[in-house]
Formats: sequence, C-alpha cells, structure tokens
Amino acid sequence: MRGVVLHDPGDIRVEERADPSIIEPADAVIRVTAACVCGSDLWPYRGVEQADHQPMGHEYVGVVEEIGPDVRTIEVGDFVVGSFVTSDNTCEICRAGYQSHCVRREFVAQTIGTQAERARIPLADGTLVATPGRPHPELVPSLLAASDVLGTGWFAAVAAEVGPGRTVAVVGDGAVGLMGVLAARQLGAERIIAMSRHADRQALAREYGATDIVEERGDAGVARIRELTGGLGAHSVIEAVGTQESTMQAVRATRPGGHVGYVGVNHDVTIPGIDLFFSGVHLHGGPAPVRRFLPELIRLIWDRTIDPGKVFDLTLPLDRAADAYRAMDERRAVKVLLRP
Ligand SMILES: [Zn+2]
Repeated sequence: MRGVVLHDPGDIRVEERADPSIIEPADAVIRVTAACVCGSDLWPYRGVEQADHQPMGHEYVGVVEEIGPDVRTIEVGDFVVGSFVTSDNTCEICRAGYQSHCVRREFVAQTIGTQAERARIPLADGTLVATPGRPHPELVPSLLAASDVLGTGWFAAVAAEVGPGRTVAVVGDGAVGLMGVLAARQLGAERIIAMSRHADRQALAREYGATDIVEERGDAGVARIRELTGGLGAHSVIEAVGTQESTMQAVRATRPGGHVGYVGVNHDVTIPGIDLFFSGVHLHGGPAPVRRFLPELIRLIWDRTIDPGKVFDLTLPLDRAADAYRAMDERRAVKVLLRP
C-alpha cells in the first residue's frame, strides 16, 4: 500500500509501505477513507521532534476490512472514527475518562501512521467507534475532524470548565482553537473571545460562535481580555498553541479561580512558579481523551447539529502529501484533508 513517510525534517514522501494485517487478536484493519495533516505533524516536519523514516498521520476515518478474533463491537464493513491514541476503554484510567492515558495505549502517530491507504488499529473495540451507517460524503470531513481536532478542542473546553454563563477566551486560531470555539458554544458559554489576527480565521471563528475577536498577543492580548471582562480575566481559557508566549497568555488571561484547558503540544514551556502561585488558576490538559467524546461528537455530526468539517480548507490526494505539509507549514491552509 502507499503511505506517507517523513524521511528527514522537511522531506515528505509517499511510498510503498508494508500492507497492514491483523497481528494481535484485538486488532482491526481499516481502509482509510480520509486522513489529514495535523499541526503536531509539523513538529517532526520542522525538526523540533526527531524523525527518521517515520510513517506519518494519526487522524483517520475508514471502513473496517478485517477484525481479529477478540473484536466484539466493530464489524467488517463498519464505517469507523478512531482516536489518535489507542485505548482498551476498560482499564481504570479509561473508565475514569482518560483513554489517552490508557495503561495499554499506543500513539497512532508513532507506530501506525494513518496517512496511508490502510491501517492496523490495535485495541479496536476501545479505540474505534462505528457510525450509525455509511455516512453521506459531505459528513466525512466532519467525522474526520472528530478523530483529533474536534475531540481535542472539545476536551480543552471541558478541561477549562466551559459552561453556561462563562466567558471563554481561546488562545490560538488553528484548527484546534477553532474547534474550541465550536465546543464552547455547544457547551453553552455566554461569551467567546477568539484571539486571532487572520481575517479568514476570524470569520470562521465567528461562524463557530465567537462573540469577540482580539488581535493583540502577549501582554497586549492579556490586557485586552481583562478590559473585556471587567478587569477580571476570563472564567475559562483554552490554550491551543503550545508556545511559551501562548501558555503565559492563557494563564494570565484567566481570572483567579478560573480554569485553563491546555491542549497545544508544548515543547520547553516553563511556567514560573511564582506566576503560577499568585495566579490562583486551575490548569488541566494534555493529549485529549478523544475516545471519551467520540460517541457524542458522532451523534452531533450525524444530526447535523455541528459542522466541524469546515476547518478543512484544502483537500489533496494522498500522493500530494508533500504539498499538504508545505501549505500547513507556511500557514496557507488551516488544515489539509488527504484522500488516499
Ligand atoms: Zn485503558
């Protein structure tokens, strides 16, 4: 089968990879209907994370072609959405809702690589969720979004304790930040402040429910959030970037007693202890337990209550994966969908 391999930083190739097959009894093999490039794929692409002939991709929807003898809830022919971390969904950590920290987890990005024609998914029962039937083609991008960016933005909103009557600030206007805006609206936030300086992303943020836009960053951005919240800061802040500046912006834009939900993969970010101590805020986040939210997200998409698929502003065939990475790297695209 064909699949995307990162040979070296910046060197994306589509080449022949070994055809996946059932190895463990809980595995399924799927034919990938759609995959995409994630902001976090840019870390190894830019050389920030190590990569040496790494199969790429961890977001996926597809049709089940084979199942192992232990698989119970997924059948051959099902259309499935999967999480970017595999989970048994039965261990104590999973049952508490933290499937991305399952004691048996594997990161799909590190071992599988779903920017490919087919993929082996371990722990199929605990990782995949079948849709009620074959989706209409126009629903496929939204279902694909549920696999990571929507699930991650949703978790960020839940971690930030978004709810009715709350003012939410969203740091980051990439796909996850935009999904955080969508989630905040669904969860009943009263006011949603999107931090963005790009007109096209501002427009999508407004469409997804943002009530205010703040273009300033850093200290000026924090000052603007405080101005908009009677000097107090937001109740809930979603951090969807993962840099030093964005993290401190999130902590400082949150009112005492408020909550930060952080989901931007962060590298070498340091929160000074004294700033944390005097902030009086709650911090929660990390890799999102997407599997916890998948059944609900699939229902909302199936009922056409939400339309997260608009976050894909470019679709390319799998063979043009190198162009997809370039477009994301140069921020010419918010998110690129790849069709095997
Ligand atoms: Zn588990």
